[in-house]
Amino acid sequence: KDYKTDTKPFWCPGCGDHGVLTGIYRALTELGVDPNYLVNISGIGCSSRLPYFVRSYKMHTLHGRAGPVATGVQLARPDLAILVNGGDGDGFSIGGGHMPHLARKNINMTYVLMDNRIYGLTKGQVSPTSQRKMKAYTTPYGGVEEPLDPVLYMLTYGASFVAQTLATNVKMTAQLIKEGMEHKGFSFISVMSHCPTFNAIDDAKFFKESAEELQENHDVSDIDAAMHAVNMAHKNGRIPVGLLFREERPTLDERMAELVKQVGGSPDYDLRKIIDLARP
Ligand code: SF4
Repeated sequence: KDYKTDTKPFWCPGCGDHGVLTGIYRALTELGVDPNYLVNISGIGCSSRLPYFVRSYKMHTLHGRAGPVATGVQLARPDLAILVNGGDGDGFSIGGGHMPHLARKNINMTYVLMDNRIYGLTKGQVSPTSQRKMKAYTTPYGGVEEPLDPVLYMLTYGASFVAQTLATNVKMTAQLIKEGMEHKGFSFISVMSHCPTFNAIDDAKFFKESAEELQENHDVSDIDAAMHAVNMAHKNGRIPVGLLFREERPTLDERMAELVKQVGGSPDYDLRKIIDLARP
């Protein structure tokens, strides 16, 4: 299947987002996802243009709100494959309040974070993942705030699949997105996706030189090992790449379906029965 649309990507030349898109095309091709059963949902930002270039049903939603919209789609149509993508500002600033709940509820979707550590669409303001020293329009003398690490947050929030890769490593990006889409539950893949137009310090070379592949014996079922790998990488100024953590547990729609079955097997369930069930 060909997942390219007639709309050619209109990102700047050299933007890391081109690499992420190629990774997504490869992952979809390898999985053979039917575009009629694929929904690609984004928020606002340079990276949130991505659904225009992927043959699928799609929603280009409000800033930071891709997750809640995707949740509604998933609960209404659990048979669809849901791919969400967005940037660091979209997902971890204005949309930051939604991320814990996508993770803890284990909503069956794949969230691809395209982290360029800057607001690109609005022409270069610091984002929640920008390095403290970064000089930008909003920080002409250098920043004063510490950045947050999306993968550390997602591990803490209880995401059942957490991975990190680089936009320049299309092979790894495709592989991790493929595994994320195969995973039953909430899969989070952070892709360090450089912005050559507005972020001169986190360029492709910097990301490549900072990346550190997880050790071969890294145990992906061990949350402590995942946390340790991320914390050690921080201490050494490195960016851990690879599959950090994966666990199998029921998804939100599975638990909802189970609950509906318990109260009569019909979606037209009686709310009083659910309240009775909830009583200790
Ligand atoms: Fe990519 Fe940056 Fe250009 Fe946006 S501004 S398209 S993130 S290079």
